[in-house]
Amino acid sequence: MITDNLDEDGLDEKVREQIEKSARHLFGMIHARFVITSRGLMKMLDKYKRAEFGRCPRVLCNMQSLLPVGLSDIPMTKTVKLYCPRCEDIYNPKSSRHGAIDGAYFGTSFPHMLFQVHSNYLPSKNTERYVPRIFGFKVHDIANQQRWQDKAREEFEKKRLEKQQQMNSNTGVTRQLKTLENSASLIEPNTNTNDNKQ
Ligand SMILES: [Zn+2]
Repeated sequence: MITDNLDEDGLDEKVREQIEKSARHLFGMIHARFVITSRGLMKMLDKYKRAEFGRCPRVLCNMQSLLPVGLSDIPMTKTVKLYCPRCEDIYNPKSSRHGAIDGAYFGTSFPHMLFQVHSNYLPSKNTERYVPRIFGFKVHDIANQQRWQDKAREEFEKKRLEKQQQMNSNTGVTRQLKTLENSASLIEPNTNTNDNKQ
């Protein structure tokens, strides 16, 4: 196929399909190697300047142009993602057609290699961060504290039950029966609070 010496008419459907699949794969691997050569980097830089790979969806990145990146250099592991050099995060491609392309066809090094060579195109970092607020008050500190309180309460309750069970297991059978009754009544309010949370 590559040397144009393949007699495609003489092949049956299955073999032909397999050859085409292998050719696509070979092209992808050549592409991964090409994009990190100086000529490949130049071509990709032009595309980056025209924002052909899309723009960062993060508001504070101010429409930063994206670059494709793989999460693995081994083919058929993960699909291609889009890297934002401003927030240094990765995103799923918008179109499902792009989202189905193998990440190894770009490789894990490509965008970082591009900025190593063309460092003047590296955007300035934006230190601004979005702060969640409710009526102007920061919420995440309070929310964190509440989560911590809930966790501490649950752990305390668990320890209390364990201690009680240990104490009761040292006594007779009648006592043990009572413990079961006690622990059952202790578990009930616990499950109720869990239901309330959901
Ligand atoms: Zn970004």
